[in-house]
Amino acid sequence: MAPQQRDRANFRHFACLPCHDGPVGADDETELGRAVERVAAQLRRSRRVLFITGAGLSADSGMPTYRGVGGIYDRGLTEEGIPIEEAVSGPMMARRPEVCWKYIHEIARVSRGAGPNRGHEVIALLERHLGEVWVLTQNVDGLHRRAGSTRIIDIHGDVSQLLCTVCSWRRSVTDYGELAPLPRCPDCDAVVRPDVVLFGEMLPVGKLALLRRELARGFDAVFSVGTSSLFPYIAEPVVAASRAGIFTVEVNPETTVVSPFVEVALRTGAARALDAVMQRFLA
Ligand SMILES: [Zn+2]
Repeated sequence: MAPQQRDRANFRHFACLPCHDGPVGADDETELGRAVERVAAQLRRSRRVLFITGAGLSADSGMPTYRGVGGIYDRGLTEEGIPIEEAVSGPMMARRPEVCWKYIHEIARVSRGAGPNRGHEVIALLERHLGEVWVLTQNVDGLHRRAGSTRIIDIHGDVSQLLCTVCSWRRSVTDYGELAPLPRCPDCDAVVRPDVVLFGEMLPVGKLALLRRELARGFDAVFSVGTSSLFPYIAEPVVAASRAGIFTVEVNPETTVVSPFVEVALRTGAARALDAVMQRFLA
């Protein structure tokens, strides 16, 4: 789930970029090893590090990849004859919450049972070794928190938090299976909703301010992990860091819009790449 402020023309353009690296061969393995070594060496010199993460990281936990091949968004229109982005949108939650909730429940069903993977673990573990590790994530699955990360800017929210659309009622929920098809507030009977940024909704001002504050304080290294960086607030920190001479890393099997800017690219899955980096870091 993500806001709709994205530039649709740009999205089409990005989607057409060549992004097929093919299988990793022996030479590529050597190259990957050298790249991992460079990243580990930089981490040893770093105090403040930013990890920007997206669906590719959670995909290693078995979560459906947003817009991914074989993902739940690929079938075109919903039963209501509308795109999924419209079904899971702020206006739909206001107008026909039962439709919105139907697809929220479906997303929750296919995501059930997923836990943090080695990639989440490595990012959390690095907090013990570095001064400050920040996570800017587009994922709403709460897996960074469950892995133990403490400095998280979950810019699109967290599905485990429910809130009332009218009063101040809030609650944590671990299993959406316990909820009614259209959950209502026990205090005022209004519809409740997940504390996430639905399509067509604005980003939370407080989290944006926190992101700006931390970016202004500067980082020694910036990682882009498992995201195609389609949103400007996800791509810009990487591009700005690169232009400022800050060490930048992309972890993604495919090239993306930030690929031309990064110093090192690890062209493999997030969990595998971050595990390799951690092993070299500790060696
Ligand atoms: Zn209420």
